[in-house]
Amino acid sequence: MRFDYCPFCGEKTILKKIGDEGDIPYCEKCSRPLFDMFSTCVLNVVVNEYNEVLLIRQSYGDTSRYVGVAGFMKVGETPEEAGAREVLEETGLTPESVTYIDSAFYEGRDQLMLGLLAKVKKADTNISGELLEAKWFTFDEAVNTVREGSIIQRFIKSAGEKMKK
Ligand SMILES: [Zn+2]
Repeated sequence: MRFDYCPFCGEKTILKKIGDEGDIPYCEKCSRPLFDMFSTCVLNVVVNEYNEVLLIRQSYGDTSRYVGVAGFMKVGETPEEAGAREVLEETGLTPESVTYIDSAFYEGRDQLMLGLLAKVKKADTNISGELLEAKWFTFDEAVNTVREGSIIQRFIKSAGEKMKK
């Protein structure tokens, strides 16, 4: 998102050279640069002690597609905290560890996706109302079940590589 108007006072922004950053939208009234904004989301590869990957189907949008456990970060959270929160909220499972694996920019939605490896103990899931299903897959099954070329597919592969080390 690019700021044509100041979100604080509503004044139309001008373009101003800010150091090495080049021309940046700037509010003269507030004397502040307004850098382009985007959302930051976490996308978890949830893995259990048998190296199975938990994928979910959402109850809205494309309900037939298996995806990862994702969500928007909240102000004040680290990615790892956001990942653990989303896994618990959506599946009822509490991760034993959440570690950063990879990142990708989702151009169409202006979202920075942070890929996380969330390790859980295999247990029955208690899915949120936003989900239709949460299902365990082997790594290879998971790679082939998600959409070809998707960010979650890339993150599952990254998680697999990381776990081999
Ligand atoms: Zn302003």
